[in-house]
Amino acid sequence: MKIVAGIDLGGTAVNYTFLTGDERFLIEGLCEHPALSREGPGVCLTQIEHGLGVAAALAGIAISDIAVVGLDTPGPASANGVLSARGSTNFVHPDWSGYDIRLGLEIRLARPVVYLNDGNAGALWGHYVLFGANNTASSVSALIGTGLGGGVIVDGEVVIRGRKGFGGELGHVLIPYQSIAGTEGLRPECNCGRTGDLEALCSLTAIEKSLLPYFLRRNPGHQLAAIGDFRKASKLVRGLAENGDPLCLEIFRVQAHALGLFFDEMVNTFDPDALIVGGGAIETSAAFQAWFISEVRNGMPVQRLEQADIPIRIMPDGDTAGARGAAIEALRVLRAG
Ligand SMILES: [Zn+2]
Repeated sequence: MKIVAGIDLGGTAVNYTFLTGDERFLIEGLCEHPALSREGPGVCLTQIEHGLGVAAALAGIAISDIAVVGLDTPGPASANGVLSARGSTNFVHPDWSGYDIRLGLEIRLARPVVYLNDGNAGALWGHYVLFGANNTASSVSALIGTGLGGGVIVDGEVVIRGRKGFGGELGHVLIPYQSIAGTEGLRPECNCGRTGDLEALCSLTAIEKSLLPYFLRRNPGHQLAAIGDFRKASKLVRGLAENGDPLCLEIFRVQAHALGLFFDEMVNTFDPDALIVGGGAIETSAAFQAWFISEVRNGMPVQRLEQADIPIRIMPDGDTAGARGAAIEALRVLRAG
């Protein structure tokens, strides 16, 4: 039996999944192992290999059954998995600088390894849920987490990676946010240096740096103002919004409208079959998800008649999206021989 593995290397944990040739996932939900990425490539790759053994035992398969491994990590990295020489939040150890993590893992595991960045892997999973493995559909996925990741799938199997690996880096596309009602005087600044890109409007970081300070200045009596720490307070916004807190709902409305403006740009660029929203921000009740999607649609400018009914869907199982997308890419490579 030919099986592929999906390995999602995050900041603190590695998540594993396995996919059979007939497209059955052998692990439900998360199967996590500590990442140890702060200790550099040597320790981290040993840890990934060890965790793969644990996960395989859990799924009841032998390591020798694994034909191809899909790996995804946060960037910045090249399309083939060479990590940025400038380092990154998740790969702070100096030995990661310019490290070819795809090749390193391929040598370690003695089998082919294919690489995707975590946004593209998540996008591939979201696309697969809607359209299956064999399709010629196109989709654009936005994953709202600490930052804003995502990806673009065209003609079913092709993830847009780009010349330098930045293809589908949707978070830094500028948004005409001044048109969002109720945000007069807002200056959403991104860590990348831009003002008003999608990540600066639609992410946990955006809530902490821009949206929460903006709305608390106008509502100093709100319960979150008493916390006195925007980072701590930002993590409470989603829960309060779900419970109907007007200020926190307003924050999510602004995020949804920003996403609507962004999706409008994508509709006009790709004319995709579906738009997909995932990530921790919408790991909420179905009712809240439905409200959020309706606000995304409200935030979009009027669409052409032919495109007005474009589906906007929530990505299921968002916490396993990276590993599952990496496994789907591995299966594609296995089938292509
Ligand atoms: Zn940015």
